[in-house]
Amino acid sequence: MPAVVEGAQQRPLMPVEEALQRLLALAESAPIGDTETVSLAEAEGRVLAVDLVAELDLPPWPNSAMDGYALRLADWHGDALPVSQRIFAGHAPPALQPGTCARIFTGAPLPAGADCVEMQENAEVLDDGRVRFLEPLRPEQNVRPQGQETRVGEQVMSAGTRLGPIELGLAATLGHARLEVVRRVRVAVLSTGDELVEPGLPLGPGQIYNSNRRLLASWLQRLGCEVVDVGIIADDLQRTRDCLAGLGDVDLILSTGGVSVGEADYLGIALREAGELALWKLAIKPGKPLTFGHYRGVPVIGLPGNPASTLVTFGLLTRPYLLRRQGVAKVEPLRFSVEAGFDWPKAGTRREYLRARIEDGRVRIYKNQSSGVLRSAAWAEGLVEVREGSTPQQGDRVWFIPLSELLG
Ligand code: AMP
Ligand code: MG
Repeated sequence: MPAVVEGAQQRPLMPVEEALQRLLALAESAPIGDTETVSLAEAEGRVLAVDLVAELDLPPWPNSAMDGYALRLADWHGDALPVSQRIFAGHAPPALQPGTCARIFTGAPLPAGADCVEMQENAEVLDDGRVRFLEPLRPEQNVRPQGQETRVGEQVMSAGTRLGPIELGLAATLGHARLEVVRRVRVAVLSTGDELVEPGLPLGPGQIYNSNRRLLASWLQRLGCEVVDVGIIADDLQRTRDCLAGLGDVDLILSTGGVSVGEADYLGIALREAGELALWKLAIKPGKPLTFGHYRGVPVIGLPGNPASTLVTFGLLTRPYLLRRQGVAKVEPLRFSVEAGFDWPKAGTRREYLRARIEDGRVRIYKNQSSGVLRSAAWAEGLVEVREGSTPQQGDRVWFIPLSELLG
C-alpha cells in the first residue's frame, strides 16, 4: 500500500492495515494473563483461557435416531419378530434377546446385540404382537454410533475462543458446569471536552450531549469488558492530570476527543508528562487522528471525538485490540461483497467507511456521511469500505462489514 501524503506537515498517513497490525502487536505484548473459573451462566461473552478437551464420547453410547424397532440384522431372515422389551430415552436396557426386536424411542440407548433400527412407519404390528418389517434393512441404519460427534481426548474448543450461546451449549453437552476464562479487561472510559453535558441535564450555550460515553460503555460491556466510567474531563490541564492520577487499576485508558492537534488537547499534554503518546494520522475516514501511548505503564488509546469517528475507530481498531489482549485469534469481522446501489464519484486519499444498509440486495448509503452524524450509524446495518483512490459505481461489488459483527 503506497503511503499517502496529506496535510500541512506532508506526513504520510498510516494505512488502516498497518494501524491494525501495530495495535495487535501491542495487544500481544500486554496479554491479560489472569484467569478465573466461572459458571456457564456467567461465561457468556467471555474468552476461554484453556483448550477444552472432551472427557467423554458424544454420544456416550450408540442410540436410536428414530422411534421404531431395534434388532440384530444377522438374526433376521425376513420373518416377523416378537418384541422383547421397550426402551425409552434415559433408560439403560438389558441385552437384546436373540430372535427378538426391541421397541425403541429416539435417543434411547441401543441394547447390546442390536445393530439396526427400523422406523415405526416401515413396520407393521401383527395381531399376535410380532412386528413385520416392510422395507429392506441395512446394518447401522438409524443408529447414532458412540462418539460420532466427539471422542474422549479430542480438543473441542481452543483457548481464545469467544463464548457465545453455541459454545456454551457445546460445553454443556460435554458436561462442563464451569469454565476457565480470561478475566475481564478493565477499561477506563473518558470523554474530554468542555462542551459536553450528560443527558438528563439542561444544555447551556455552546454545549452538546455526551454521546461517546454511553456508546463506548455499552459496547465494551457487550465485549465482556469491565467499564470504569470516568465521565467527562473538562478541558483543563490540572483537572486532566488529577483525573488520570486517580484512575485505579485498569488495563486500558480509552478516551475520546482532545487528542488531535487542537489547542484544548490537555489530555495529550497530561499523558505525555507521565508516559508517552504517539499521534497517528490514519488513512481512515471518518477517524483520522488516533493516539496510542502509555500512562504510568497502562496502555492508552485516544479516539477522535466525533461520534461516527469514535464508532469506526473503536469497531475496526480498538475492538480487535481488546479481543487480542484476551488471546482471541480471529479478531477481524466477517465481511462480504455486495452490489453497490450508489455512486461514489470522488476518489479519496483515505479509506472510507460509509454507513450503509442493504435494500433489495443492493447496498445503499446514508445521505449524510459526516463524522458528527451518529444517526447515520443508527440507520445503517453495516459499513461499506471504499478503498483509497477507488470510485465505485452502481452495480460494482463493494465490501460490506455488518455492524452486528463489530458490536458483538
Ligand atoms: P475534539 O477531538 O475534542 O476536538 O472533538 C471533535 C468533535 O467531536 C467536536 O465537535 C466535539 O464537540 C465532538 N465530540 C467530542 N467528544 C464528544 C462526545 N463525547 N460526544 C459527542 N461529541 C463529541
Ligand atoms: Mg475536545
